Amino acid sequence: MLAEAVEDLTGHEVLLAESGAAAIEACASHPGGVELLVTDVMMPEMNGLELLERLRQTRPGLEAIFVSGLTEQNLKREGLLPENVPFLHKPFDLDALTALVSERLAGRSPAPAEASPKPLATYRYQLDADDRIVFVSDAWLAFAVQNDAPGLTREAVLGRPIWDFITGPSTRQIYEHLHEETRARQRVLTVPFRCDSPDRRRFMELELRSLPDGFIQADSRLLREEQRSPVDALRVSVERTDEFVDTCSLCRRVREDHDWAEIEDLVLRGLFHEPGPPQFTHTTCPDCEERVRDTLAGRE
Ligand SMILES: [Zn+2]
Repeated sequence: MLAEAVEDLTGHEVLLAESGAAAIEACASHPGGVELLVTDVMMPEMNGLELLERLRQTRPGLEAIFVSGLTEQNLKREGLLPENVPFLHKPFDLDALTALVSERLAGRSPAPAEASPKPLATYRYQLDADDRIVFVSDAWLAFAVQNDAPGLTREAVLGRPIWDFITGPSTRQIYEHLHEETRARQRVLTVPFRCDSPDRRRFMELELRSLPDGFIQADSRLLREEQRSPVDALRVSVERTDEFVDTCSLCRRVREDHDWAEIEDLVLRGLFHEPGPPQFTHTTCPDCEERVRDTLAGRE
């Protein structure tokens, strides 16, 4: 209720989380930017200050508001309140919170409710009925060269199966289903994915559109890009151990037992440091598989 009220009064979208770990997860999987953290100071497992520090490692400009039933004086003495972060004593009224939210986010525009963001770039290719590449845009070629295929030329790409550029059997299977559905029903399908580099998170979407004679036009759109401290484990040239770890080709999260985590979270926790990062097996996580199933079924 409080979240909805803040949303209505300030125009900013609100993500809710029940713990520090849940907040980190919610921020990581949210496709839009996150600008402000409102947190309790005292929480089990991770306190508000630790949570803010964790989130600021990947979002240096993150604003915050701390709330607590304890007094500001006591919390300051314990070193639990960071500098330049406003504090609200519980119980507080809604007006006080929305006023603070609006003040901290002044000058940052609320996220548009529905409209999809204008892409920063579009990388286009076209496939024939046998999934062979028959067209690539200059931007697609430049993007491929810049990222993982130095020296790649248009002549070397045209006529090759798209499967040469898609790694992992489960990812290939997902694309095969998408291609089949696009061709069979002449539908336009859109699937979100990430195409990260060591120092950038790139939030993208792939739009598949059927053309005559079983051809498909694919537009990969770059929607948003975030700078991050370089993740060495993602460098092509880095020395790796003999261990294999699953990574999702669509959302780029990494499997950790039964969970999937952002790679930075694993790096921050010291995994991959010694004796070095593992080798990655490209697969798809259950969340992405479900999202694609919904897309194929026409559910949003
Ligand atoms: Zn995934």
